[in-house]
Amino acid sequence: MGRACFIALGANLGDPVATVNAAIIALRQLPHTRFVAASSLYRTAPVGLKHQPDFINAVVAVDAVSPAPTLLQDLFDIEARFGRSRGVKNAPRTLDLDLLLYGDEASDDPRLTLPHPRLHERAFVLAPLAEIAPDLFIPGRGLVRELLARCADQQIEKLVSQTA
Ligand code: ADP
Ligand code: MG
Repeated sequence: MGRACFIALGANLGDPVATVNAAIIALRQLPHTRFVAASSLYRTAPVGLKHQPDFINAVVAVDAVSPAPTLLQDLFDIEARFGRSRGVKNAPRTLDLDLLLYGDEASDDPRLTLPHPRLHERAFVLAPLAEIAPDLFIPGRGLVRELLARCADQQIEKLVSQTA
C-alpha cells in the first residue's frame, strides 16, 4: 500500500479537453503508482494573468510507492511530453500537473511544497477534488468540502462527462 496522492491537472492552450483527457490516461500508466480515481473535467476563467483562454481542470488520485520527488519528476516528464515549456508563472500552458498531496507529508521546499500551498483557496482544484474525496482533510487547512464552500465566489463549470 502506497501513499494517497492527489494530482491537479490544468490546460488552456490548443485543445485543453483532449489534453486533460490524454493526461489522465498518461497518469493511469505512471510507474510505481496505482490509479485510484479521476474527477470530471471543469472549466474555469484564468487566475492571475487575464486575457488568456479558459482553463480545463481535473484532479486524479493515485496510490504512490515512489518517493515524492520522483513522482514530481514523473509529472514534469508528462508535462514535457505534452509540449510544455516553462515560462512565466500563471502563464498559458498546454499542461500543468501539480502534486496537491503526498499522503500526509508536509514540506516547505520551494521545489516541492506539500500540501500544495494554494490548493485550499482555489475552486478549480477544490471542486474536482471534492468530487473524488469530499471528506479529505488538508493538514493545517481543513476538510475539502468546507474549503470549497468558502470559494463560492469563484465561477466554475462542470463539463458533462466526455471521457476519452
Ligand atoms: P504553477 O503550477 O504554480 O503555475 P509551475 O507549474 O511553473 O507553476 O511550477 C513552478 C514550480 O513549482 C516548479 O518548479 C516546481 O518545482 C514547484 N513546486 C513546488 N511545489 C510543487 C507541487 N506541490 N507540485 C508541483 N510543483 C511544485
Ligand atoms: Mg505546476
